[in-house]
Amino acid sequence: LHKQQPPLKIAGYAHWKGQVLTAEELNVLYEGIKLNNVNHYDYILTGYTRDTSFLETVVDIVQELKRLNPKLVYVCDPVMGDQGSMYVPENILPVYKDKVVAVADILTPNQFEAELLTGRTISTEKDALDVMELLHQMGPDTVVLTSTDLTSPHGDQFLVALGSQKMVRTDGSKSTQKIRIEMPKVDAVFVGTGDLFTAMLLAWSHHHPNDLKAACEKTVSVLHHVIKRTITYANEMAGPGKRPNPAQLELRMVQSKKDIEDPDIVVEATIL
Ligand code: ADP
Ligand code: ZN
Repeated sequence: LHKQQPPLKIAGYAHWKGQVLTAEELNVLYEGIKLNNVNHYDYILTGYTRDTSFLETVVDIVQELKRLNPKLVYVCDPVMGDQGSMYVPENILPVYKDKVVAVADILTPNQFEAELLTGRTISTEKDALDVMELLHQMGPDTVVLTSTDLTSPHGDQFLVALGSQKMVRTDGSKSTQKIRIEMPKVDAVFVGTGDLFTAMLLAWSHHHPNDLKAACEKTVSVLHHVIKRTITYANEMAGPGKRPNPAQLELRMVQSKKDIEDPDIVVEATIL
């Protein structure tokens, strides 16, 4: 969506502190897990990464963990940028393109990231469906474009997301479920909504592994509830006629616990 340039885009704040984990440090942590024999995982999720060697180490670890558990599902949010501009170093793109996407099972790019990964431009829904098909060919059986610039059939007050899932029917034949989901746009910039989307998609795909429509409806419904609670609170804190600041727009996650666990379904996806 329409966000500021880094570092504001990623952290939301003017300042940030702390350390960035290196590939070597990640390897050491993984060694510790291995030594204790607790390297058995059902899911892995990765997001914002700026360092190529860190990302390559992630791929090595995912491959090893998949050998130990062939059912492991790797959910990859290939965070690279938004609205035509990259906020990670450009040399991270070939690593996603040539190595990471190939081992991903669920991929959640936004429109710009999907365009970067495929080298295609998306102007129409047909373009987007073609791009998702290309992404399937690169590896993942489930692809969700978490936000796009496409015009919603319901008008420009709505934001469009698209999903595509390859499945094998019980008789062995293959099928693809393609969906469009629309949500009302809220006039504010949120930080962490992309992370929440991917985390919720992991959780709801666990409950609906072969029904992307259901998983996405629950995912987007959670986003809707969290965003609504957040904007209501932020506007109240800012006062009449004032725009809320980043601190006031912190996602109301704890307050949304019940909605996250069991969301009222407020959006219906369209099967394409
Ligand atoms: P990404 O760029 O990775 O798609 P975003 O944070 O822009 O990440 O969007 C992720 C999801 O968050 C969207 O699918 C939507 O459900 C929700 N979202 C984010 N910002 C808004 C907004 N201003 N209004 C409505 N929904 C939003
Ligand atoms: Zn994202």
